Amino acid sequence: MRLLFLKSTAWAAAFAGAALALHAGEGDCHAPARECTQQIRQMLSARRYLGIQIVELKPGLVIKSVLPDSPATAYLKAGDRLIAVNGRSLEKATVGRFKQHLAESNTGKVMLIVLRRGAFRRIEVRLEPYPKEYIEKAISAHLSQAHPATAGAQP
Ligand SMILES: [Zn+2]
Repeated sequence: MRLLFLKSTAWAAAFAGAALALHAGEGDCHAPARECTQQIRQMLSARRYLGIQIVELKPGLVIKSVLPDSPATAYLKAGDRLIAVNGRSLEKATVGRFKQHLAESNTGKVMLIVLRRGAFRRIEVRLEPYPKEYIEKAISAHLSQAHPATAGAQP
């Protein structure tokens, strides 16, 4: 599967949750829009997500925001510092490494330790498939970002 043509930073950021490890870059995409639509739909349908946006503090990871109605909504909050995932320390981890750890969780069950207002909390959360509307949003965001000529066209 060719991933390199997925070049929209905007939608990658919006869907930074969890197992989404798509390539983010700059500039237009030169693949046919129809092909991109298919690939994004296929890829996201096969993945599960957590629903958080993360800031890399170098070192350390902090939750910047939690997507509404995502698996993370009830458990995680903006400002939580990620300390460990499934027994692995995140204190010096990059966002990429964190996503890798999530992707390695075959069951989709994730055990997190976070630091919230000075207290450690143990949080168990289950990754879920991307909702259809998220997938469609990701597709239209990619099309309008990286395929300006075809923006608004029906896939
Ligand atoms: Zn494209």
